[in-house]
Amino acid sequence: MLKIKPWNSLTLTTKVLIGMILGIAFGLLSRSLFPTSVFVDTYVTEGLLHVVGRIFITCLQMLVVPLIFTSLICGTCSLRDVSVLGRLGFKTVGIYLTTTCIAITFAIIGGLIVRPGIGANLEGTSTFTPGSSPALVDVFINIFPSNPVGALASGNTLQIIVFALLFGISIAASGEKGKKVADLFVSLNEVMMKLVALLMNIAPYGVFALMARLFTQIEFGAIANLIQYFVLLLALLAMHLLVTYCSLLKLLAGLNPLTFLKKMEDAMMFAFSTSSSNATIPVSMETVTRRMGVSNSIASFTIPMGATINMDGTAIMQGVATVFISQAFGIDLGLGDYLTVILTATMASVGTAGVPGVGLVMLAMVLQQVGLPLEGVALIMGVDRLLDMVRTAVNISGDCAITCIIAKHEGELNMDVYNDPDAGLSDERIDFRTSTH
Ligand code: ASP
Repeated sequence: MLKIKPWNSLTLTTKVLIGMILGIAFGLLSRSLFPTSVFVDTYVTEGLLHVVGRIFITCLQMLVVPLIFTSLICGTCSLRDVSVLGRLGFKTVGIYLTTTCIAITFAIIGGLIVRPGIGANLEGTSTFTPGSSPALVDVFINIFPSNPVGALASGNTLQIIVFALLFGISIAASGEKGKKVADLFVSLNEVMMKLVALLMNIAPYGVFALMARLFTQIEFGAIANLIQYFVLLLALLAMHLLVTYCSLLKLLAGLNPLTFLKKMEDAMMFAFSTSSSNATIPVSMETVTRRMGVSNSIASFTIPMGATINMDGTAIMQGVATVFISQAFGIDLGLGDYLTVILTATMASVGTAGVPGVGLVMLAMVLQQVGLPLEGVALIMGVDRLLDMVRTAVNISGDCAITCIIAKHEGELNMDVYNDPDAGLSDERIDFRTSTH
């Protein structure tokens, strides 16, 4: 006989999964049962679901800045040798950019083989006005904050990273005199991790609300028109996750890819439901440190940086989309154009933060570089919401996989934790009865 477990004894992963499935079912049911109900639309979809979903995302975002700041300072001042930072930075940026180039190259090749844009219906595609995308030189200049408080207030991840690194190095250089500040940040970091665990308790409800609202509104008609583009993109995203990342984990670090995929469940579900690598930073950090055994000094650096500069899933979308749009509009691109696409998309991913839909803005920038019509963006917009969810899950998987590889190389990966299937699971629960007063 089927035994139903009480809700509180389920793991977070199971609860979030249930929230997600119920949310999708709720959304689909509500659109078919009450397609024109003003009451459902006003009080349920745009009322309750919208409020709960927004509160959930806002709470995740609330954690991001203090978490990056405290954990990165802790990580930097605990490094035994500050010159490690240079090497770490070089390696991290190098591997991130390389995987992004690999991703977009595969995407372009996939697009050229499958030819998803041939015969696409272009009617009604000329209404799109793209958002402004950053100029490439500004991307580099803007990494340095003129006002660290302003950077913290506006949540500019790269600027926060730069300031936190310098601050951490200075604490370490102050020796005994800086010890009090270092201890303060170590405590703050512990408190922040507890806050993450605390807010995870609302995750199943937040995920339910986000999914339910999305599936009440999403346009499925567009998928039928763009079926080849949609399926090709999903296949390439899956391939990048299962082939590229898994072989990199195995070949570069000798790590078991299945263990990695299993432990990524939570973070991937968060990325899927929020469509934001940035909002997923707290969960990615928890996953790699508590569940996979990466030390905080590595993860605090590589995860926020990855959420900002490493977007392989997004790059894959841009590769396929460029080929698709060029085929749909009957414009031939040469090898030089494709190289420009690879370069521009890789650079664009450095300058844009991981938030929902940013991939489309970056795509506009790529199209402009090779002279393709910006209306192309409107062409794929209808299916982008769903694809954004999947590619964000791939984006953060890349951050976590590369974090594990770098940690292994630096001797900062606890293999006992990595190989233990239950590692970190008990940290999900906070028992307030045993908390200190
Ligand atoms: N939503 C993606 C992310 O946050 C970016 C994108 O592809 O639009 O990683």
